[in-house]
Formats: sequence, C-alpha cells, structure tokens
Amino acid sequence: MVQATINASVRNHLKAIADKDLEIVNIIYQEYLSGKISEKEARERATKLLMGQKIGSTGYVYCLNSTGSVVVHPEKKLIGSDVTDFAFVRQQVADKEGFIEYEWANPGEKEQREKVLYMTYFEPWDWIISVSSYRSEFATLIDADDFRDKISTITLGKSGYVFIIGKDEEVLVHPWIHGTISDFQGTLGSKFLRDIYEKKRGIIHYKWKDRSGDTLREKLAIFEHLPSMDWIIASSVYTDEIYAPLNRIIYFVLFAVVLSLLLAIPLGAYVSNSITNPVNDLVNLFSKAAAGKWDTRAQNTSQDEIGILSRRFNKFMDDLQGIQCNLNTEVAIRQKAEYQRRLFEEVFNNAMEGITITDIEGKILKANPAFTDITGYDVQDVIGKNPNILKSEKHDKAFYTAMWNEIRETGHWSGEIWNRRKNGESYPELLSISAIKDTEGETTHYVAVFHDITEMKSKEEQIRYQAHHDALTGLPNRGLLTDRIKMAISRAKRLDTRLALFYLDLDNFKTVNDSLGHAIGDKILLKATERISDIFRSQDTISRLGGDEFVILVENVKDEMHLINIIEKLFAGFAAPFIIDGTELHITTSLGITIFPDDGEDAGTLIKNADMAMYQAKAEGRNGYHMYRQEMHDRAQRRLTVENALRHGVNAREFAVYYQPKINLDTGMVYGLEALVRWPRPDGSVISPAEFIPLAEETGLIVDIGKIVLETACKDIQTLTAHSEQPLVVSINLSGRQLKHPDILDDIRAITTSSSPIPLKLEFEITESTLMDDVDGTVEILQEISNMGFSLSIDDFGTGYSSLAYLKSFPINTLKIDRSFITEITVNDEDASIVRTIIDMSRNLSLDVVAEGVEYPEQSRMLKELGCSRIQGFLYGKPMPLLELITFLKSWKLDKI
Ligand code: C2E
Ligand code: CA
Ligand code: CA
Repeated sequence: MVQATINASVRNHLKAIADKDLEIVNIIYQEYLSGKISEKEARERATKLLMGQKIGSTGYVYCLNSTGSVVVHPEKKLIGSDVTDFAFVRQQVADKEGFIEYEWANPGEKEQREKVLYMTYFEPWDWIISVSSYRSEFATLIDADDFRDKISTITLGKSGYVFIIGKDEEVLVHPWIHGTISDFQGTLGSKFLRDIYEKKRGIIHYKWKDRSGDTLREKLAIFEHLPSMDWIIASSVYTDEIYAPLNRIIYFVLFAVVLSLLLAIPLGAYVSNSITNPVNDLVNLFSKAAAGKWDTRAQNTSQDEIGILSRRFNKFMDDLQGIQCNLNTEVAIRQKAEYQRRLFEEVFNNAMEGITITDIEGKILKANPAFTDITGYDVQDVIGKNPNILKSEKHDKAFYTAMWNEIRETGHWSGEIWNRRKNGESYPELLSISAIKDTEGETTHYVAVFHDITEMKSKEEQIRYQAHHDALTGLPNRGLLTDRIKMAISRAKRLDTRLALFYLDLDNFKTVNDSLGHAIGDKILLKATERISDIFRSQDTISRLGGDEFVILVENVKDEMHLINIIEKLFAGFAAPFIIDGTELHITTSLGITIFPDDGEDAGTLIKNADMAMYQAKAEGRNGYHMYRQEMHDRAQRRLTVENALRHGVNAREFAVYYQPKINLDTGMVYGLEALVRWPRPDGSVISPAEFIPLAEETGLIVDIGKIVLETACKDIQTLTAHSEQPLVVSINLSGRQLKHPDILDDIRAITTSSSPIPLKLEFEITESTLMDDVDGTVEILQEISNMGFSLSIDDFGTGYSSLAYLKSFPINTLKIDRSFITEITVNDEDASIVRTIIDMSRNLSLDVVAEGVEYPEQSRMLKELGCSRIQGFLYGKPMPLLELITFLKSWKLDKI
C-alpha cells in the first residue's frame, strides 16, 4: 500500500509537471500563432522554460520527436542525436504520453538506478515532452501524513498495528511514538525499534508491555524495507492475539482429518474397487493379449480414465495386430526366401554343372564342387581370381570380344568353348554366362554355368565316325567317300590335276560267302582291306560300299603309267592266296576305273561309271581291269603289255646293239660308230628304241638296258678290233635317267674294265636337254667319265638352248648337230644359218662337230662347205648288226664319198 501510494504520488507529481509544461508550451505557441512572436522565438522560449526546471536533485525535462531524435535537452550536444537504441525511448516514441519506469545511470554514475518519467505530446512541434527523475529523489516530496490515517486504520488481532520508520531513525508513523528512535533511549521499546531499524527487514520476537497493560507479553514484529524511500514498514502484534484464529483453524483441521479418516476407509474401498476392477479387467486383457490373443479388445466405453485407457488399449492392440500381421507375412517371406536359399545351395553344391559367380570385375566370388570336379582347381584357390585362368589357346581374342559384346548387349551368352584344366588338359564345355542385374538394371554379378562335354563330344565323334564308316572294316562308307570325292574334285579343278576312282570287286565272293559262311567271308574282307591298304598312300581314300565292293580314290593322277602302276600293284597284292583258319583261298578281283574330269564331272557319275567299268572287267573274264573309256583303256592296255614285255626282255637280255658308221669326209674314212639299241621280237620284227626307250625311261628299265648295251658294245669292240686296221670310236647313248642313277659311274667303270682287255676308245652321247636339265648335277659325273679317259658328245645339239657359259663348264669334246636342222639344210636358209653358227661356235670352242641324219649328197656337200666334215646318216650307212657292220667296213672304199 505504501509502495503503491508512493508510486501514485510520484506519478502524479511528474504528471503535474508534464501537464503544466505542456500548458506553458501551448501558451507560447499561441503567442506565436497570434503573431506576437516568430515560431523560432516561440521554440526558443519554450526550450528555455523547460530547461529551467529542476525535478528532484538531478531530474530534468527533455523532448524527443516521433522519430526518436532529441530536440530539447539540457545537455546541448545531445540535441539532434538519435537515441532509439534505448528500449524506453522506443516505448516513448510509440506511446508519446504516459508513465515509464526504467533503469538508468546518469553520465558519471556507475550503477543504474530506478528512474521514472512522465511524457506528454505537443503535436504542433512533434515534441514528446518528458519529465524524468530518479525515483529515490522523490523521498522529500512524499509526505508521511498522506499515509498516516490509512495506516492507523489497519488493525492486527485485537491490538496490533503498523508503523513506519524513516530515514535518520525518524519514526514517521506510529500510534503513539513521535520523533526519533534516539528520543526513546533507555526505554524498553527503543531496543527493538533499533533492532528493526538496523535489520531493515525480517521478523523479531520480543516481550512488550503495552501502554494500557502492565504485564510483559510475547510480541511479534514483521518488517520490510522500501529502498526507494529508505523506509521500514513494520507491523507488530501480540502473538496470542495473532495465533488465536489459527488455533481455531487447527481444531477444525483436526476434526476434519479424523472425520475424513473415518470416511476414507469405506470411500477408499469403494474408490479402489471402482478403479481397480476396470484396471483388473484391463490387466486380464493385457495378459490375454500377452498370451498371443491378438483379437483381444476392451469393452469399456466410459468417459473416465479407464475408458480412455481401454480405448488406448484397443488402439494399441489394433496397431499390434497390424504389426503382427505384417510380421507374419514377413516371416513367411523370409521362410520362403530361406527355403529358396537352401534349395539354391543344394542345387549349387550338387549340380553336375560347374557354377561360378563373379563380381562385375570378373573376380570369382563363389564356385561349386562340380567346378572343382571339372577343372581340378580347389574352390578356395580360385576365389578372387579371374576365370581366365581356365582359358585355353583354342580361341582367339576376337572370340572373347564377341562373347563379351553379346553379354553386354543381351545379358547372356551360351556356346561351346574350350578351357584348360589345372593339369593342363584342354576340354570342351558347354558354357552359359548370364549377367545378374539389380533393381535399377545395373549388372552386379555374372553367373557362369558350364558342362564338361568331353564325353559327349567323343560320343558325338563316335556317332559321326559310325555314320561315315563301315562297321566291319572301319573304312569310310559311301557317304564319306562321296564327300571326299567332292572335295577332291574341287581341288583337282583348282590345281588342274586329275583323280581316279578304282572300283574293286572280289570275284566269286558270293559263292565263297555262301559255302564257307559269313564269318569266313568277313575274315576275307578284312584281309582284303589289309592288302588294299598296303598298296595305297595314306592320303588316298579306301572305302567300302558294302558287300565285297571297295572304291579307292586317288588324287593327283599324273598319267596312265601312274594308273598302271596301281593296277599292277593291286593285282600283285591279290596274287598270293588268302590263308583263313589254315585254309588257302585264291581270291581275285575285278577292277573298274574312272578318271575325273574325263569320265564324269561329279562324284555320283564317277562312282556309277567305275561300277560299270568293273562289270565290263567281269564280263571280260574276271581277274582283270577295265577303264571306263575305251581308247584310254586300249592305251593303258597296250602300255601295260609293252611294259610287261620290256621287263621280261630285260630279264631275258633280249636286246641287241646295232652300229651306225660315222664318216670323216676329209679322210674318206669310217672313224667311229654309234651303238643303237634294238629289241628283236620272236616274230622276227625289230622294235625301234623310239618306241620303247621312253617307257624304259619311265619305268627305270633303261638303267638295265643301258648296262646291256654297254656290255654288248664292249664285247663287240673286241670282235671289231680283229677286223679293222685302226681302232674306231664307239659312241654310247646315255639318257637322263641313266646319268642320274647313283651307280652310273661304278657301272661304267666295272663294265669297261672287266670286259675289255684292250684300251677302249669310247664316247658317251648325252642329249643337250638332259644336260640343261640339271647342270650342277651332271657336270661332276661328266668330269668323272672324262677322267676315266672317255670322250663326251652333246647329242641333238641345237634343240636345248644351251648357253656358251655352260658349254665351257662341261668337259665335252663334240657337238652333234640335231637331225632336224640337217633335213632341210639345203632348202631352208634358217636351218642352214643355224648349222653354220653351230659349226663356227664349235670351231671357236675347239670342239669337234658332227652332223647326223644326213641322207642326201647335197646335205653332205653343203656341210663340208660349211666346215663340218664328220657325217652320220643313211647316206653312208644305216645302223646295222655287228656281222653286217664287219662286212660294211670290209667293203668300204674311199671313193664311196
Ligand atoms: P639318237 O641318239 O639321236 O640316234 C640317232 C637316231 O637317228 C637313230 O635312231 C638312227 O637310226 C637315226 N638315224 C641315223 N641316221 C639317220 C638318217 O639319215 N635318217 C633318219 N631318218 N634317221 C637316222 P634309232 O636307232 O631309232 O634311235 C633312236 C633314239 O633312241 C636315239 O636317238 C637315242 O636317243 C635312243 N637310243 C638308241 N639306242 C640307245 C641306247 O643304247 N641307249 C640309250 N640311252 N638311248 C638309245
Ligand atoms: Ca645318239
Ligand atoms: Ca641324235
């Protein structure tokens, strides 16, 4: 009450000043309005007036405008400054009128003190006129009398009262004490008043004798300090008076407590029942729910806490049931997933196929036992490795590039691939690689499943083999033969070569089979297969078409001789008897032959025609062959006959040697002889070497024939020496085949030394083409022959394009001009000039020159003119047997030329 009164009085005081100031300013303003003074003068006067006021000891008046700037202030330098930083200024600007309390320290003061201001607003000049002062400075303004009456009316208990002690021990308000505390020095009361004055706030108990009474009574004083006024407001009362109503309350409270205790027991029982029953119900529901009855729900619908709890419980159970339901589904899904995982694990571990799972970089993360079985690598050894450890060299880089491209594009690849086991063995596998993708479609893993197909492959191979081969003999069957013929035909076309089919059929095999049984028949077929196989080269195809029919494909057939060779070998192969289970069986064959491209353009035709030719051979009496085309057949037949005869002739030394004289026109003498082989036949005819020498060359029989000729010639020379005055040079022809034979030098040496006791004048004639054929090979042999003391002559000179350089390198003595240049020498200028050139050349090289095939005197004369005096030809003498030659030599006269 005191505080409020003080506040009100401060406020009123300030308000009164502010109102008065506003009035003064307004009066001055009216003067300005009435024109007595200028506005500037009015403002200055108003400011002066306001500044002249003092509020309390340090209070003053100032004005702000509504933007918060100082317009009037005792401190001049503040004018115009913006002071809106202070919270109370912002309140001033907002309110413009009224009372504000705030904390403030004047310039130079350290501690803030309570300050108050009252403001009014003078609108014409936008002045917020503020009257401010420290609250404490109002103490002097407050008159204790203002409170005295009011405070005196306050009674506490019967005789309690309120009193105020002011500054300087002055008792401001008291029922009966006036003046200062010191004035009561010595009296009982002064001690307590001093206590109160010194303590300023608190409670004290003390004994007090009232004015009216004479007994000391317990008294209580409660006091509080009012700092703004430095007043102590105290109230004192006798304790018995103040506690009397309290005691009454205590009795009442005791009574009430006893009564409520009496009531509390049944009430408690009721209340507890009314609470615990539904709670128990709830507890039961909880235990039910806990036991797993998810559909448990409370029935209580009341509005009390239990009802709320029930509804919460129901809500909770709803949620729980929902969660339980989700959980069940989750469990089911997981169980299923777990089952699938175990199933996968089972499949993974027990699969026959090797399975690897790799990461995106190709590192193996997992591999199954079958992987180990197939590759030989332990699973733990390959974890983290790249599957390319299995790579074989069977595929090139392009293969793997194509494979990975397909996996990238389609997510999958499958095919046959060769890999390598740990032991180095390569094997085929059927591999399938799949990319495993995540939900975003990004590849995260690769799964490779592979199957070792080595066995499958070999079975396949076996089946393929069986499909193409005859079960009994293991020979290719008709299908494979046809394929091979097709391939051979395309090769033959490309290389411009020929191929031959030999259709071979065993004679009378059916009879043998029927009479001796199939087992023997099979054995014969196997033996026959063996014999055929011995004859042919590995690149030839021997096939069995069924029964006793075999077809042999031979590529790159050179000529008839080649064929005849094979035919002869075949018949020779079957000449010996077959010994089956100790029994000798004579099995002959019939052979049909076709040639590509002569006898057919395709495999089918070639086989069919060969078959027909074979039947022809059968028709001709079995144990023979037939070529599909007659003229070819005839030619082959003839050659075969001749060869056989020739062979026989060599064995029987059927050959004779004729001698043709060589004349020297300068001396008119026979100076030499050429030994020329002849083959007399039993019918009296004589076969020319032009007919059989090429065959003898091909068959190599020429070597033996040559030896016979040399031996005969050496022997004949002995005879001739006896009949002629001077020794004659005897020329022996050496063919290429002879010259190349490894024994040639030994043979010549052996024959010429053994058979001739007298020194021989021998000359060997080698054709120009033979020499040019193998210059390096022949030059050494010729040298050896020359070393033996024999001369050498180049036969058929002019046909073989020899160069001078070569001629110089051979140890030759004579050039023999080929007959072809001589024949037309008298009519053909070109031939004549060639002969002239050869003659000139031989002279330059210091070689003798001989002309052969001279039949007419003109030729002889011309040759002599050209410088060639050595002549051989029918003009002077034909080749003749020894006896005839002896007669010829005897009758030779110089004048014959
Ligand atoms: P060549 O060595 O050029 O023999 C000369 C051939 O010409 C001989 O034929 C001979 O009879 C023939 N002739 C000689 N003068 C005349 C003539 O005036 N007019 C015609 N038209 N022909 C004439 P021949 O004896 O039939 O021999 C043929 C070829 O056989 C020989 O040609 C020779 O290369 C070869 N030859 C003969 N005997 C042997 C031999 O013992 N060993 C070898 N390796 N080859 C021989
Ligand atoms: Ca000759
Ligand atoms: Ca000749």
